[in-house]
Amino acid sequence: MEETHTGKAALIQANYHTHTRRCLHAGGTDEEYVQEALRQGYDVLGFSDHCPWPYESGYIPRMRMRLEQFAGYRESVLALRDAYRGRIEILLGLEAEYFPRYMDWLLDFAIREGIDYLIFGNHYHESDETGQYFGKIARDQFDVYVRTVLDGLETGMFSYLAHPELPLRSLDWDEGMRPGFEAICQYCAAHDIPLEYNVLGLQLARRTGREGYPHHHFWEIAGSCGCRAIIGMDAHHPRDLRVSLYRQAKKNLETFGVKLTDRIPRVDFVRLRELKQKEKSE
Ligand SMILES: [Zn+2]
Ligand SMILES: [Zn+2]
Repeated sequence: MEETHTGKAALIQANYHTHTRRCLHAGGTDEEYVQEALRQGYDVLGFSDHCPWPYESGYIPRMRMRLEQFAGYRESVLALRDAYRGRIEILLGLEAEYFPRYMDWLLDFAIREGIDYLIFGNHYHESDETGQYFGKIARDQFDVYVRTVLDGLETGMFSYLAHPELPLRSLDWDEGMRPGFEAICQYCAAHDIPLEYNVLGLQLARRTGREGYPHHHFWEIAGSCGCRAIIGMDAHHPRDLRVSLYRQAKKNLETFGVKLTDRIPRVDFVRLRELKQKEKSE
């Protein structure tokens, strides 16, 4: 992985987790996200809408764009990158799951379409055609979540792990979860993969009064493992980019002793495919 570093001591204000209304549960136009990001002082805005997949079953997804919409997404983001060049850095990304049988396709797709980065949102087990949503699982499925996070990260395709403690969206924290979360944190520390402090979850906690994710126990573990954290606004509306929320997240993270990063590791997808092909032929 190649690191793009600013070399400055002060962190830039960056968000790599931005959706668009193509996913059917977000609002605002693409340009409104950019304008809001400018108003709120961001240096970098990465679009990472929910990844489309080439479903073999003909499944029509309800929480992401369809594959045929991707060209429009790409075109729009690249046009905004040009239009706002010099004022804000715009990146073309996707938030993808780990769907084992489609991962080779995704790697080819990322290369062909010139995707800047992928973030890993482990929303569904195996595929949303059939699999369960990890934000609403039974307690005995927690280990499946952990295992698939580790398997997904092992593909080497992802620049960071989004909402790492997603099962806490519905499950309450218990000490039995500690080894699983430790395994995730240890892996990410060893491979220098940033963990996302998810600000959409923070907003939800404020509204409901229930601590789901981000969860302080998780971030204590991340801190003690020496993990790096990245703030992800997980914007589903331009107003989710409010700098007051960004600052709050930053302040919260300071209490856990994690190192905050503002740049994501960039994966060289071409090189990764070469490595995978070599592995296969051996
Ligand atoms: Zn979403
Ligand atoms: Zn997201």
